[in-house]
Amino acid sequence: MEAVRYVFDVDGKEVYLITLKNKNGIEVKLLNYGAAVVELLVPDREGNAENVVLTYENIEDYIKNPPYIGAVLGRTAGRIADGEFTLDGQKYQLNRNFVVSQCHGGDKGFSFKVWNYRLLEGKAKTGVEFTYLSKDMEEGYPGNLEAKVTYTLTENNELSIEYEAISDKNTLCNLTNHTYFNLSGSYKRKVTEQYLRVKAENFLESDKNLIPTGKLIKVDNTPMDFRESKLIGRDIESDYEAVRAANGYDCVLMLKDEKSQIELYDELSGRKMTVGTTYPCAVIYTYNFANGEKLKYGKTGSKYDGICFETQYEPDGINHDNFNSAILTAGSKYCHKTVFSFTTTREV
Ligand code: BGC
Repeated sequence: MEAVRYVFDVDGKEVYLITLKNKNGIEVKLLNYGAAVVELLVPDREGNAENVVLTYENIEDYIKNPPYIGAVLGRTAGRIADGEFTLDGQKYQLNRNFVVSQCHGGDKGFSFKVWNYRLLEGKAKTGVEFTYLSKDMEEGYPGNLEAKVTYTLTENNELSIEYEAISDKNTLCNLTNHTYFNLSGSYKRKVTEQYLRVKAENFLESDKNLIPTGKLIKVDNTPMDFRESKLIGRDIESDYEAVRAANGYDCVLMLKDEKSQIELYDELSGRKMTVGTTYPCAVIYTYNFANGEKLKYGKTGSKYDGICFETQYEPDGINHDNFNSAILTAGSKYCHKTVFSFTTTREV
């Protein structure tokens, strides 16, 4: 079931808030600005539906959105060193919106665009398809790229995000979503009090500017070891360079090629979310540089209020021979999918 409400205009284009619901009390609100997830209501073990993602108090705050709350990231998620890359022998210089690098597609990446939308209704599912045409050399990337992001909510309590794209020239493409999750409900408790399991044996080493060096590090004996479920807060403030430098978790985990690679669990509410993806990595980011954002329920956003699972190709892959390059060749189809599934556990 869907409902659509006009909210505001950006650059003369209308922006709508679209609500998808299933019969089990899950409800997701999406904006065609940034193709963003605004709210996600999920029942706890008693059946009380509460919001499990960070949401701005004022809907207009999605327009600037410095921490990319809920937004789709593109054309490329994550950092590109010096904003530079070479493709087919030609050097491209992107703008450097993050000091020495380009991050999340530049100043006016896909998070800051008004997308077209189309509602989809299927058997035991409901959805919305967002499309956006990124013109040749927009934010410095070659090729006209048609991007499509489809959100589907099923009666099995799955929210899936499918990323598709096609370009008329060879280009880079690495699309993801930057929703901050917190399963406590209306972010009553920090994510440091929630359990995380990730099927990842390696993570990417980063330099002081959070750009991958190209080296893979084993998670063994590091705070990045989530192979057994553990509290996110357990090692987050440990004296380990990669968490100290990032002010929390901001780490690229290399996922195993298996189902449901990630699991987040809140013991008190009983809510559990599993994440399965076709992408090779997930960046986990714990809102380390919260900057007083005015969030719903009268809260001021602060560190560890949420955690992003940015499933994607390795950031800066184009500049490392041992990573996926994220090159999308002209005429070939980009296709990835990430599924978030919700269950509850019984009383512990
Ligand atoms: C990145 C962080 C960055 C943040 C901005 C995350 O995806 O990993 O390094 O500061 O986005 O909101």
